[in-house]
Amino acid sequence: MKEFTYTISQISSLISDQSSLVFPNQIIYQLLIDSRKVTEAKNALFFVLKGRKNAHQYIADLYQKGVRAFVYYDKNFEIGKYPEANFIFSADPLKSLQNLAKAHRKKFDFPVIGITGSNGKTVVKEWLYQLLAYKYTIVRSPKSYNSQIGVPLSIWKMDAMYNLGIFEAGISKPGEMEALESIIKPTIGVFTNIGSSHDEGFSSREEKIKEKFKLFGNVNKLICNKAYSKYAPESADLYTWSLEEPTADLYIKETSVEDAGTTIKAVFGKRKIDIKIPFKDRASTENAITCILVMLVLEYDELEIADKMAKLHPVKMRLELKSGVNNTSIIDDSYNSDLSSLEIALDFLNHQQQHQKKTVILSDIQQSGLDGQQLYQTVSKLLESKGIDRMIGIGDEISRYQNLFGTNSSFYPDTASFIDQIDFSAFRDETILLKGARKFGFEKISNAFSQQVHETILEINLNAMEHNLNYYRSKLKPGVKLMTMVKAFGYGSGSFEIANLLQFNHVDYLAVAYADEGVTLRQNGITLPIMVMSPESSSLAAIVKHNLEPEIFSKSTLTAFSNYLESIGVSHYPIHLKLDTGMHRLGFMPDDLDYILQFLREKETLKIQSVFSHLVASESAEHDDFTRQQIGIIKDFTTKLEKEIGYSFIKHICNTSAITRWPEAQFDMVRLGIGLYGVDNFSEDDENLEQVAILKTTVSQIKQIKKGETVGYGRRGVMPEDGQIATVKIGYADGFLRALGNGVGSMFINGEEVFTIGNICMDMCMLNITGKNVKEGDEVIIFNSQKSLYKLAEKLNTIPYEVLTSISQRVKRVYYYE
Ligand SMILES: *Cc1c(COP(=O)(O)O)cnc(C)c1O
Repeated sequence: MKEFTYTISQISSLISDQSSLVFPNQIIYQLLIDSRKVTEAKNALFFVLKGRKNAHQYIADLYQKGVRAFVYYDKNFEIGKYPEANFIFSADPLKSLQNLAKAHRKKFDFPVIGITGSNGKTVVKEWLYQLLAYKYTIVRSPKSYNSQIGVPLSIWKMDAMYNLGIFEAGISKPGEMEALESIIKPTIGVFTNIGSSHDEGFSSREEKIKEKFKLFGNVNKLICNKAYSKYAPESADLYTWSLEEPTADLYIKETSVEDAGTTIKAVFGKRKIDIKIPFKDRASTENAITCILVMLVLEYDELEIADKMAKLHPVKMRLELKSGVNNTSIIDDSYNSDLSSLEIALDFLNHQQQHQKKTVILSDIQQSGLDGQQLYQTVSKLLESKGIDRMIGIGDEISRYQNLFGTNSSFYPDTASFIDQIDFSAFRDETILLKGARKFGFEKISNAFSQQVHETILEINLNAMEHNLNYYRSKLKPGVKLMTMVKAFGYGSGSFEIANLLQFNHVDYLAVAYADEGVTLRQNGITLPIMVMSPESSSLAAIVKHNLEPEIFSKSTLTAFSNYLESIGVSHYPIHLKLDTGMHRLGFMPDDLDYILQFLREKETLKIQSVFSHLVASESAEHDDFTRQQIGIIKDFTTKLEKEIGYSFIKHICNTSAITRWPEAQFDMVRLGIGLYGVDNFSEDDENLEQVAILKTTVSQIKQIKKGETVGYGRRGVMPEDGQIATVKIGYADGFLRALGNGVGSMFINGEEVFTIGNICMDMCMLNITGKNVKEGDEVIIFNSQKSLYKLAEKLNTIPYEVLTSISQRVKRVYYYE
């Protein structure tokens, strides 16, 4: 709930002189750039941003949902069709969004910290929030909203009740920082460090640093490592830190890593600083030093700083999705609780279509700066606008305001009494969001809901998948549709969990191998069109019942499906004709054209939705002539078929590596497979992809073994010297194949590579860890990057496709979303 509100006519006068306002007094709370995120339709203003898709197409849907205010740029767009909406014209809606944020920023004169740098921006921002929130009421960027769009949306959250702002700014090319500076107008600047990300956007490292420092053009105070002080503007009071230079304002004399964390000893003028942080890695130490200096600049005393720093906790921005008891899906976000992260978690909950019912378990929200009544009223409205069916509040605070929540809510004073009193069988077939502040220990609830875990886990990074999807999208010509292949349990990574993400991201089609896979998707709320590539004669009824679209690849599949449709009285059912242009697997041959034509002329049962073929070697230059020939054949075939049949249909042939290598063959649609999962046989693309899957397990036991003793079945593993072995919980039944035994395969523990010893067992295997620092319970990585996945495939004499799809179903899949 904003105290500081604008009417649409006030907004219009700030950003445009061409508007058509039918209700000039409409109050605007929410700025919307993603049509899927509407929560307060009546008070939302949608910006139609320019991009690959023409976003004007979302206006109709948003209007339907009650949105009544739009900023648009297409002069020809018929606003007359939406008589009850306010329209503001802008040649550049992004600029207008930024201008609105700028105007909003000017209304406030409390201090604003602006953070930039290559790494650590989000951690420093979140830590400063943890460190300062007991004294200040802080408004900050949600997650890492630091882009040209994210920054204005963050600034829009500034309001009268706050007295400190913390915002981060990220850029990828020259010219961007000036825009962000003029929006954030930081009074205190914080520079984290410089690294290699986005190097490609700049001519040199120097240029990149200078560009980033443009955020600090008007700050009063600037905090950075002494190494960067020459870039600081003269006008600012500069506060530097250094591990080497005693002349820095905060000179770090010593950092020592101990069991429980790191001790930092430093001097600040005459003051001695002695601080412990509960982290051991170098990046955390540097981020902590930056935070210490900010606190010193804000005139905190040493004891206060030490006290707060000792209690820092890790920044966990990712949401975890896993399956729970009684067919539930659990979204675990039990480490932070504030309004903006609640909103983000609720959005993620709403992407999940697998269950209709949605439950939220929520703890007290701490440090919001709002009074309880106002806070929980806002929470209650938010839950209502997101369509939550049931809410459980845990904590004294939230319980005090229970009358603000609807009838389907219940309250418990603390986590223990919830676990004691609740009957877990009351939760079934639903998605449950766990959102609690750290001190409530919601991980206990999470464990209680989780199914028994076999400790080998395949982690799926949904952000990486979204990144890969967008990468291939950016390679498509305008108007080309996208079919994504989710066959074989999404190349091993999951079924509806993946499809949900794809549906949410508006892909056009999904493809599965068998009808069952399609049925599972339908039963879990997937409404996208789905092509089934191997429709078996026994599954025709299921195909029609669940509105799946079969691939028809032979005279017999054509006849069988048509006969079935006739028997149930269905006509014009969409099918996908597969043409064999050289793969010689499934498909009609080009000279079947007349047969097909004849058949379709006689029968009314079928309608050709698409005609497609599959390239056999699109990634390989050696076979380019063959690829060209395949493309020629489908072109020729579809041209003739379309002409004779009198209607047009979708034509497609590209798989992943063809999308960029053969743009001329994109036709009307492409079929994205392995690229979505982070692998492309065409190396130029590969570099731009992010690894989606991480396979990991844990060390069950460590043993001392003497030289010459043997390890495992058949005594194949002979210990080469006195040393240690670790038994880990993954075996060939999980997909860590037997061929990887006896030193062929390797894994990574604490960053170090260790090799197998002895034969691989069904559920376990042994690693030689002699001389390495390994403890029982340590995490063991089988692969976590493209490089390690490729290496594993190479050792097995196979391709990443086979490695991914060989990971057995008993390996638990856990999904992450940041
Ligand atoms: C699997 C498959 C694809 C996707 O291939 P990738 O190489 O994984 O992109 C495309 N088309 C058909 C017919 C397939 O079977």
